Amino acid sequence: MALLKSKIVVVPLGEVDFVMVNRLASALGPAFTRSVDILKGMKMPKEAYNVIRNQYYAQVIATKLERTKANPREKVIAICEEDLYVPEEAYIIGWDDAVTGSAVISLYRLRQEFYGLPEDDSKVYPRLLKETIHRTGHLFDLGECRNAKCVNYFSQMMLDIDNKSDRFCDICRRALTRQI
Ligand SMILES: [Zn+2]
Repeated sequence: MALLKSKIVVVPLGEVDFVMVNRLASALGPAFTRSVDILKGMKMPKEAYNVIRNQYYAQVIATKLERTKANPREKVIAICEEDLYVPEEAYIIGWDDAVTGSAVISLYRLRQEFYGLPEDDSKVYPRLLKETIHRTGHLFDLGECRNAKCVNYFSQMMLDIDNKSDRFCDICRRALTRQI
């Protein structure tokens, strides 16, 4: 009997652009050749909020996301508008946690508005897609990639995100195929 492939579950977290989340969910399936569900949504967990930093602690969110899983093999990816952090970084765009099998990606710094520029979905959506594929890849045991064109390339700067493609390089693709 063939093993059932684990699902990817996308969670809109807080007040987030649902059209963009929907579009993202339909692109994630083909990228990882598996089915994707979208959950109805979840509130931003209050306990993740750090009042001094005015940011949300990504690991607390990841731990909370684990509770939405229908089975341990599911990968849960949340999308939010709020700014995220982990203690060792000033900010982060996304975070993945192998222990809980969950990840969270923030639109906060992916938006043109953050840089004082007019909002432009044609720039924001590809950034969200790339960062979500990048983080989801880690949940399937991929490490960071040094190929600047690979979607799995570590990128905190918008320029790096804009310059990389939304596809895995051959090395990451092969590693991923072994995992999936
Ligand atoms: Zn790669």
